[in-house]
Amino acid sequence: MTPTAVGRAPNTLDPLSQSLLALLEAQDPEVARVLADEAERQDSTLELIASENHVSTAVMHAMGTWMTNKYAEGYPGKRYYGGCAFHDEVENLARERAKALFDCGFANVQPHCGANANIAAFMALCNPGDTILSLPIKSGGHLSHGLKVNFSGTFYTIVDYDLDPETELLDYDQIERLALEHRPKMIICGYSAYPRLIDFARFRAISDKVGAFLLADIAHIAGLVAAGVHPSPFPHAHVATTTTHKTLRGPRGGLILSNDEEIAKKVDRKVFPGSQGGPLMHIIAAKAVAFGEALRPAFKTYSRQVVANAKALADALSGHGYRLCTGGTDNHLMLVDLRPRSADLTGADAERWLEQAGIVCNKNGIPNDPRPPMVTSGLRLGTPALTTRGLKEPEMRQVAAWIDRVMEGKGAASVCSAVREEVRAFCLGHPLNH
Ligand SMILES: *Cc1c(COP(=O)(O)O)cnc(C)c1O
Repeated sequence: MTPTAVGRAPNTLDPLSQSLLALLEAQDPEVARVLADEAERQDSTLELIASENHVSTAVMHAMGTWMTNKYAEGYPGKRYYGGCAFHDEVENLARERAKALFDCGFANVQPHCGANANIAAFMALCNPGDTILSLPIKSGGHLSHGLKVNFSGTFYTIVDYDLDPETELLDYDQIERLALEHRPKMIICGYSAYPRLIDFARFRAISDKVGAFLLADIAHIAGLVAAGVHPSPFPHAHVATTTTHKTLRGPRGGLILSNDEEIAKKVDRKVFPGSQGGPLMHIIAAKAVAFGEALRPAFKTYSRQVVANAKALADALSGHGYRLCTGGTDNHLMLVDLRPRSADLTGADAERWLEQAGIVCNKNGIPNDPRPPMVTSGLRLGTPALTTRGLKEPEMRQVAAWIDRVMEGKGAASVCSAVREEVRAFCLGHPLNH
């Protein structure tokens, strides 16, 4: 390995990335070195964090463009600054593609991230103090759905629904009972760690019974929805929010969708000027590119493989003696209960040991986890990034075998480093398509 940043970076990097590293190497070797190291890390490890993915070269480089130099506060045709003609064009492209992708009438592509999309959606649909019915983070919800320390838990009255303790599935009868009892202004569905399909129609029926708005936060499953391998929140949800960087495989960002013109107008006002200033136009350009990619047939094939890989990985882990929460998965992720494999295994240990072996994932509480959130009894594993790498079912069985070897070895350095070398060689043989 040569001591230069460019030498450290994988030689599979695309020409633009190589030029960038060479430029930075001359101008700012400290940053160049860190970027090259990160490129090498991503190339040589297996990424199983369910909320992560590898963007295409086109999406990657669309982010690093002249679009970043402009203030474009406002919306296409209604900006507060001059010189926005091309920003209007690219934002309109992103909006039109998002609407086509999700088959809805309205899209706001400006939210900086998923949590910001939720801030604007909450502000559009609720007043401070209103009651919101949602799944808490400990059961698979997201912090922006009502965690006390988050804006959501600070400014709104949160009522929790929960999973069925036996099946670990959504309990629609309980949700309906709670809705009738508390008459919320808004009900939230859509999660960060729920491995099964969501019945959006049932959620809308419950919402209609109590006159509540239905917010579908499809941050995790947006790519699956766009590809038609998970049911769509439309026509059921009043508003859908999402990230663009998870299964959708776009740049890091947020997106708000709706079919209701009145609600859409409110959402626009609550994004800007309600909760954000100037939009990240370079990211919006990359969103347009990513949505264009997701509209192609190849994205359907990719998304089907994401789900097939998740099932294969879940089956293989189950064969090694782990328990899959809810019994398995219908989407891109699974929650693995480690205790049946070995009672003293914790999510925190597993995450640390696996990282040493080149397998990157996160510990996650399982429903009714007796251990605290920084320890946990489970792992959340997802297949979007591995599938982008071109891996299929046979490789999922290999990944499961590596995971089990590291658990069997209880994190012994010799085992971790042996698996690390095998993973590195494997990754070289399945290079990321930069
Ligand atoms: C990831 C996620 C978000 C937030 O996304 P950020 O871009 O990290 O703000 C919101 N909701 C759900 C359900 C998520 O999983």
